[in-house]
Amino acid sequence: MNIVWFKRDLRMLDHGPLSNACAKGKILPLYILEPNLWRQPDVSYRHFLHLQHYLSQLDDMFIKRGAKLVIKVGEALPVLKSLATRHNVKAIFSHYETWNKFSKDRDSAIRKWTDKNSIDWKEYQQNGVVRNLNSRDGWSTLWHSHMRKKIYEVPAKILCVSEDSDNLPSCQDMLLEFDGFEPNSNLGKIEPGIVLKSFLTERGENYQREMSGPLLSADSCSRLSTHIAFGTISIRTIFQRTQQQTQKKLDLVGDKLKNWRASYNSFQKRLRWHCHFIQKLEDLRSIEWKNIHPIYDKLERETSYSENFERWKRGETGFPFVDACMRSLISTGWINFRMRAMLVSFASYNLWIDWRQTSLYLARLFSDYEPGIHYSQVQMQSGTTGINTIRIYNPIKQGLEHDPQGKFIKKWVPELRHMPQANVHTPWETPELLGKYYSPIVDEKLSRESASTRIHQLKNLKIARSQSEAIWRKIGSRKISENDYLKSRKKKPKLQNEFEF
Ligand SMILES: Cc1cc2nc3c(=O)[nH]c(=O)nc-3n(C[C@H](O)[C@H](O)[C@H](O)COP(=O)(O)OP(=O)(O)OC[C@H]3O[C@@H](n4cnc5c(N)ncnc54)[C@H](O)[C@@H]3O)c2cc1C
Repeated sequence: MNIVWFKRDLRMLDHGPLSNACAKGKILPLYILEPNLWRQPDVSYRHFLHLQHYLSQLDDMFIKRGAKLVIKVGEALPVLKSLATRHNVKAIFSHYETWNKFSKDRDSAIRKWTDKNSIDWKEYQQNGVVRNLNSRDGWSTLWHSHMRKKIYEVPAKILCVSEDSDNLPSCQDMLLEFDGFEPNSNLGKIEPGIVLKSFLTERGENYQREMSGPLLSADSCSRLSTHIAFGTISIRTIFQRTQQQTQKKLDLVGDKLKNWRASYNSFQKRLRWHCHFIQKLEDLRSIEWKNIHPIYDKLERETSYSENFERWKRGETGFPFVDACMRSLISTGWINFRMRAMLVSFASYNLWIDWRQTSLYLARLFSDYEPGIHYSQVQMQSGTTGINTIRIYNPIKQGLEHDPQGKFIKKWVPELRHMPQANVHTPWETPELLGKYYSPIVDEKLSRESASTRIHQLKNLKIARSQSEAIWRKIGSRKISENDYLKSRKKKPKLQNEFEF
């Protein structure tokens, strides 16, 4: 028989390993819950809650087909070894995983064991991320061709061998403490096909215009990220359904047609970014723990405990928009792209805290934590990649632009509920109305200017520029051709449009 090892792909539709293994005969559908993975500093209570939910949904899918998902609690290698002694395991079918260092090291150990024991471990490409990529040139073409391949149907027949399951532990058993996660509506729990359909047919019409507003984006963005992170739906399924929907909307006219077209275009671009960012981690593992560009090792940001870090973590910086974003994230597990970028920018530039501290904290808060996107984005918003424009967000300006009436602030920072609209973004200007709210943790302008000077001094060094080119060759987006890129380096080093990279 063959083992189908489910990892971050908790679905049946478009599941290559499952379909191919079922076509060969009996299978053992396996999920291994690894206690050591759940002791890593980037995972959390809220991730475990989602996992429990998705595993029970996957199990229901097996039960409906007269089968059962086998859950084993233990480290992957001993679990697989033990199964191999009790069953005649010919092959293991799984997706190729590009996750954190723990999963990479575990897979290397398993590969050694399967090779030594003549067990055929077949790993399938899960999305647009390519293993052992020789060059970034032409990657987008590979992505597009993968997205257009036929989707694997749910197997019509699933024959399973018999094997006992372990009980799924609780959060308490896993020593995962409550982390403030109390979402009002948890889109992560609704069936992914329904979330996608409502986005493509109703919620997404003003996606492009509303994706950055903290209140509107909660509905106008697809909200598929947690599903994608746990693999309950494949990127290819999302891509193809979006393409079909694009065709259906062609009979619309005027603004409606324009809006939907813009939405689908932006959305599909982001589906590509998803894989593009994970590809960076695949090609440069150290993105998780090292500055992408070594010149920024000289920045000497704060790496140890600091009161500023604690206040940022709790949403008590005295900058209302930053605090509202952080408190909302703690409670709901999700916030839009721009707000994530602003939270990181504030910590990395204004508070001068090293991204290796803040990224772990945010990883635990994002229900959709995906290492490849996360660390690349955190480094981008901290100015340590060497290939992106330095972007320091002004939190007051961001608040005025995206929450002009202060509704989002008042929702999440109740201390400011009675503050007049004119002062809600700068409450320190009316100290008599401040009440229990905090004074600003830093001078926004001075800290921004000091950060900008320090980072640009390094960025402009000749040696830094030549290293940037090597980094771009390895992991940079090829949206622009290399020639264009090299030409642009001679003028002003502006490499990409707004968030492309
Ligand atoms: C500092 C920082 C950390 C981030 N960490 C994560 C993370 O751990 N996991 C994660 O999924 N996203 C991360 N993002 C990217 C982005 O913020 C989220 O993907 C998005 O907000 C998820 O909401 P959505 O599904 O409604 O997105 P939509 O706007 O509906 O986009 C659809 C999908 O496209 C992908 N996507 C969207 N924007 C981006 C982007 N800028 N880069 C790469 N892929 C993108 C995601 O898979 C997303 O689910 C991070 C962004 C920043 C600035």
